[in-house]
Amino acid sequence: MEYYPHLVAPITIAGIEIPNRMVMGAMHTRLETLDRPHERLAAFYATRAKGEIGFILTGGYSPVPEGVMDEGGLYLNDSTQLLEHQIITQAVTQAGGKIILQLLHAGRYAKVENCVAPSAIKARINQFKPKALSTEEVWATIESFAHSAALAQQAGYAGVEIMGSEGYLLNEFTSALTNHREDEFGGSFENRIRFSLEIIKAVKARVTQPFMVIYRISCIDLMQDGMTAQEIAEFSRQVEAAGADLINTGVGWHESSVPTIAATVPRAAWSDAVKNIKQAVKIPVMASNRINTPEIAEELIASGACDLVSMARPLLADPDFALKTRLGKAEEINTCIACNQACLDRIFTDRTATCLVNPRAGHEVEFDEQLTQQPRNVAVIGAGPAGLSFAINAAERGHHVTLYEAADQIGGQLNMAKQVPGKNEFNEMLRYFNVSLKKAGVTLHLNTHVETDLLALQKFDDIVIATGVTPRIPEIEGINHSKVVIYLDVLSKAVHVGEKVAIIGAGGIGFDTAEFLLGDWAESLDKKVFFKTWGVDAQIQSQGGLIEAQPHRVSKKVTMLQRKAESLGRHLGKSTGWILKSRLRQAGVNMIGGVSYDKIDDAGLHYTLNGQQHVLDVDHVILCAGQNSNRTLYDQLKLRNLDVHIIGGADVAAELDALRAINQATRLAVQF
Ligand code: NAP
Ligand code: SF4
Repeated sequence: MEYYPHLVAPITIAGIEIPNRMVMGAMHTRLETLDRPHERLAAFYATRAKGEIGFILTGGYSPVPEGVMDEGGLYLNDSTQLLEHQIITQAVTQAGGKIILQLLHAGRYAKVENCVAPSAIKARINQFKPKALSTEEVWATIESFAHSAALAQQAGYAGVEIMGSEGYLLNEFTSALTNHREDEFGGSFENRIRFSLEIIKAVKARVTQPFMVIYRISCIDLMQDGMTAQEIAEFSRQVEAAGADLINTGVGWHESSVPTIAATVPRAAWSDAVKNIKQAVKIPVMASNRINTPEIAEELIASGACDLVSMARPLLADPDFALKTRLGKAEEINTCIACNQACLDRIFTDRTATCLVNPRAGHEVEFDEQLTQQPRNVAVIGAGPAGLSFAINAAERGHHVTLYEAADQIGGQLNMAKQVPGKNEFNEMLRYFNVSLKKAGVTLHLNTHVETDLLALQKFDDIVIATGVTPRIPEIEGINHSKVVIYLDVLSKAVHVGEKVAIIGAGGIGFDTAEFLLGDWAESLDKKVFFKTWGVDAQIQSQGGLIEAQPHRVSKKVTMLQRKAESLGRHLGKSTGWILKSRLRQAGVNMIGGVSYDKIDDAGLHYTLNGQQHVLDVDHVILCAGQNSNRTLYDQLKLRNLDVHIIGGADVAAELDALRAINQATRLAVQF
């Protein structure tokens, strides 16, 4: 029986048989900056190939050194580099997969001093101003793409993807905003798309069949002076005529002020923009962005919006996505929750990509996946992200695991996070944990408050403490006043706060609590609401698909405060913090840094700023002042000389986050 008939149907493109319609999209991992880079990349991609993904797109390689993403970035322009690529292509082939090299010239986004662009116009997200390419240099760049494609074929890649979206060099040529040229590559629409078309033709002329040439087009620019739907359709037809075998789609530019892949974007939000291209051409078309379940991917293909789906982050989260889909085991998929915390946020801050829900991603060579030869009897206390990850991984290795949880459900802080608008994907994480606990054979005891004697009686070989955190109660005069509430009581809806609210603490949880009070649940679930909120013209009749935004309005008056004299939210994730800050500012949130708290009384919250005393007349003061570790049980067990380990927030509460908790727990489990 085929569970997702459209998704598992094979397709032949450019003479290459693809076993299904699921593709691993390109993602820059920065694994090249670690030790054993080629071995790591080979293991990373081969793991996905073993998981039966249709084909894999590598992270971007520039055809020229000045087009790299950043200093030391990847490029392919010389036959001396072939050996290192062959390590990757051979590993993927041996695993039964196919891999395609992405050719990406970063243009004015290249974080290098000698970056180039169609015109010398600086991007607001890059400190370097680009040099405008001369006409001869444009032709030389076209030639360099063809040269790199030929090298890619020699290295054993099954094709190349020419990156023409996301605001990189090719996209900069197509847009009147960044292309002010007066030669044959600037001015009219025909001239602005010429660079892309000449690259496709040059690449096609240099490679031999079977070899797939993919063009990634911007299906909606989300930038001023971007293309309209009609122009995108016409451009797609010309891409097809130039010889592309498949069109992949990209959404927005990196400097767009509309979110394109964060969790606040509804699943498959960009399907109409993809369909616009699908209806214009005969070659296959691939959709991307916010496709994270087999159901949504199947629906996209079945509805005629596309022929294939590209998923980058979901393949970080679960390398076996395609295999589980074919077997009808979608509930076992470790779903990407679109948090960006361990992938994009790390890449944007010069670290390597991994995944919050799958710490093995990018670290495949560090994990020993053998079953244990000496099964142990292990107790885990606390079923938050750390305890759950440890229990599942230890049980999967063959240990006998008993998991105790004081609450009536698993999840710990995840149950709070999922209450926040835009964080509905956390439900998928809880579903995955529930299914995996059962599958791994973990014995779960809910509603069980563990005392030291219980553990001693059961005679466990090892005890793992994952008892999490308790909210910190700051020492402020009047902290016991009836106006004061803890964020847990607000997010769990035990307390309904009034119209005027102060939030003490502006970390991740302070911002989440403000979003809980002011955000709109419909935004991340209904694309019409999302488009209205962010000013997107879904029909792309306006240039770039932008119209006036109509943000959600709530009457509550919220003030956020912190003691640090810096702008609030500075430490939020790079790829998502701006979304949260921009929305809360639009909702009229007052953000005050550099305060000291004086007292809380019937008049409200008294604080001092720059030597001046102020009173905030509020109905409630919500405490989001960080966390303290719950270590009591651990300390008691240690005193009894039991074999005990501590993980997650119980170990370190500062900067408690699920990424660190799951990583620490998984690594401990594979050492058992
Ligand atoms: P946090 O990021 O450490 O922020 C704590 C805030 O409290 C800071 O703004 C700090 O600012 C303030 N603070 C600390 N001590 C204080 C004191 N004694 N008196 C008054 N204010 C004090 O902690 P968090 O917001 O609890 O977030 C923890 C982690 O959870 C983050 O890393 C985040 O990634 C993750 N997270 C979890 C969830 C969830 O629902 N579970 C949601 C979002 C984020 P000042 O010291 O400047 O005053
Ligand atoms: Fe998805 Fe978050 Fe993992 Fe990135 S870190 S792949 S967004 S779950």
